[in-house]
Amino acid sequence: MAEKRDYYEVLGVDRKAGEEDIKKAYRQLARQYHPDVTKEDPKVAEERFKEISEAYEVLMDKPKRDLYDKYGHAGVNSQFQGGGFNWNDFTHQGDVRDIFGDSGFGGNIFDMFFGGGRSRGPHQGQSLRYDLEMTLEEAAEGVKKELTLPLTVKCDACGGTGSKSRKEGSCAQCGGKGQVQRVERRGYSQFVSVGACPKCGGTGKDIKDPCPECDGGWTRKRQKISLDIPKGVDSGMRLRVAGAGEPSPDGGPPGDLFVVINVQEHKVFQRDGADLYMVQEISFPEAALGATVEVPTLDKGKAELSIPAGTQPGETIRMKDLGITRMDGHGRGHQYVRIKLVVPKKLTTEQKEILRKFSGGEGNLKKGLFSKGKG
Ligand SMILES: [Zn+2]
Ligand SMILES: [Zn+2]
Repeated sequence: MAEKRDYYEVLGVDRKAGEEDIKKAYRQLARQYHPDVTKEDPKVAEERFKEISEAYEVLMDKPKRDLYDKYGHAGVNSQFQGGGFNWNDFTHQGDVRDIFGDSGFGGNIFDMFFGGGRSRGPHQGQSLRYDLEMTLEEAAEGVKKELTLPLTVKCDACGGTGSKSRKEGSCAQCGGKGQVQRVERRGYSQFVSVGACPKCGGTGKDIKDPCPECDGGWTRKRQKISLDIPKGVDSGMRLRVAGAGEPSPDGGPPGDLFVVINVQEHKVFQRDGADLYMVQEISFPEAALGATVEVPTLDKGKAELSIPAGTQPGETIRMKDLGITRMDGHGRGHQYVRIKLVVPKKLTTEQKEILRKFSGGEGNLKKGLFSKGKG
C-alpha cells in the first residue's frame, strides 16, 4: 500500500487551521469525491472519500489531532479500532448528512461502507479497555507489563452449559438461536442487526436446573496476560491487542483489548512529544564565566553540560538525542535544559567586597547590582 499522506495535505489546509477551515475543506472535497455524486472513477473516489474522512475525523478531534501533530500517523493509528481508520471509526455522519441532505441517498453510502455483514453470524466478543499507568522511564525505554484482566469465560463446573446436570433445552422465543433481528437507525443509516434474545440472554438455552457456580454457563475469571509496551508511548495512546478481549458468546472471534497509556508526571523532566525539558540552576559566576555542570538524563545517568560564558537566565541549551525514542522510527528527541540563575541570599564579607568591586563601587549598588555604566 502507498504511504499514508499527511492529513493536512489531504484536506489542503494549514497546520494551524481551525475547525471552520477544516469543515469547509472537507465539505468541498466531499462534494467532489462522495461516491454517489463523483465524476471520478468510483473506485478512486471511494478511496479518496475515505482518505479525506479519515483526515477529517482526526483533525476535528483535539486529542487525536494532538497525537497526530506530535507523532504523525504512528501516533494516531492506534486510536482506531482496527489499528487503522475504518468507517466504524467515523463519527461525523451527521456532517455528511448536512452536506448532502437526508434525501436522495437511498442507496446510502454508509450502509455500503459499514457493510451489512458486520452483525450477521457469530458475534465477536466484547472489547475491553485497560488503563495502564507507567513511569516516564518505562514509557521511554519500553517495558513488559503483566495485566490482570477480568474476563468472562466458560464455567468449568458445568462445561459452559449453565445446567447443573448439563442438560440443555432450547429457548422458546428464539428457537435456540439465541438471537433476534432488530432494526436500528444510526445517523441517517438504517441497520438490520441481530441482537441477543431478551428471554435467554443470547444463550439460546432454556435451563431447568441452573448451575450454582455460574451465570448461564459463563463465569468471571481473572486472566493474566503479559504485554510488551514499545518505546516512546505517551499518555492517551491506545495499544490494541487483537483477540485479548472477552471470548465470543457464540463461537465467534474474541474481542480486542485496548490498553490506554497514562504516563506519570516526572520529578525532573517534562515531556513534549519526543523532547524532554528540565530546569538547571546555576550561579551568577557560572553563567558569566561559563562552566561545566552535571545534569541528569532519563536513561544515561549524569551527563556533562557545558554552559557557555555569558549565558542568560531562561536560555535553553539543547542536548542532542537525549530525548524519547520517536515511534515513527525517526531517532530520538532532544533534552532541553532551561537555565535558572540563582542569586545567593547570604554572602560572606569577602564575597560582598568582591561584588562591590565588580559593580564599580558603593554608589552603583544603590542603582542595582551589576547595572551598566560606571555612573
Ligand atoms: Zn456453571
Ligand atoms: Zn432465546
